[in-house]
Amino acid sequence: MRELLHAQSADRFCTACLSGLLDTSEASARMAMVTLEAEPGTTRGYGTCSRCGKDRIVVGAVRRA
Ligand SMILES: [Zn+2]
Repeated sequence: MRELLHAQSADRFCTACLSGLLDTSEASARMAMVTLEAEPGTTRGYGTCSRCGKDRIVVGAVRRA
C-alpha cells in the first residue's frame, strides 16, 4: 500500500480505485486509507483521483520539495 503510493508519488487515488489496485473490497480499501492517513508521508483529502479522474476523497503521498 505505502509502496504503491511511494512508487507513484504524484498520484492520488479514491477508495474505489484503491480497491481495484489492491485487489480488495472497497470497505477494506477505505480502512487502509484511514490507516494510511495516520502515517507520516501520506495525505488524505478532497481532490481529483489520478486513475478515474473524479473529484472525491483521495489518498496519496505527500510531495516533498
Ligand atoms: Zn478513482
